[in-house]
Amino acid sequence: MKRINKQCLNCGGEFLPKTVASVYCSHICSKKAYKQKSKQLRNEAEIKALADKIPENRAFISVPEAGMLFGVAKRTLYRLVGQGKIPSVNLGTRLVRIDRRVIEGMFGPARSLPQAEIVPKKKLYSLEKEDCYSIGEIAGRFQISEGSVYNHIRKYSIPTRQIGKHVYAPKMEIDKLYNGNHFL
Ligand SMILES: [Zn+2]
Repeated sequence: MKRINKQCLNCGGEFLPKTVASVYCSHICSKKAYKQKSKQLRNEAEIKALADKIPENRAFISVPEAGMLFGVAKRTLYRLVGQGKIPSVNLGTRLVRIDRRVIEGMFGPARSLPQAEIVPKKKLYSLEKEDCYSIGEIAGRFQISEGSVYNHIRKYSIPTRQIGKHVYAPKMEIDKLYNGNHFL
């Protein structure tokens, strides 16, 4: 049977295949394609590792996290935040947090990453004042120092909101944190 020319999957050049299974014109192209594939797999593994660190139930995410989840350049997101097109909560220097729902509204659902599919539903926080405790209220109610409250809020990525002089956190999350199964 006469072999026919094929197109190399790497360089696109025509070549006469050595076997019917050949897809690359040369060792060089075969090696290049292999390297590219490994690099792609490494990138995917890195993205997945990063995504695993973002709890599905967190409504407020950082700009790098949003960039990764929604496949949008960080520069673009920072620009939109700067222009006020994406509302943000500033928890301190370099601690801008943005509402996941707003990003979903602009860019569609988060990229489907393997672990995202096994989490059944996402929980949304209400940061309305009536649904929140102030840090002082939490300290009094659960008999702990305000410093500890702040530490726990950071540790468990509980969103906060500043209204006037006071910082507020959602009652639901705080109740769950101090009445629930967390070991502090
Ligand atoms: Zn080639």
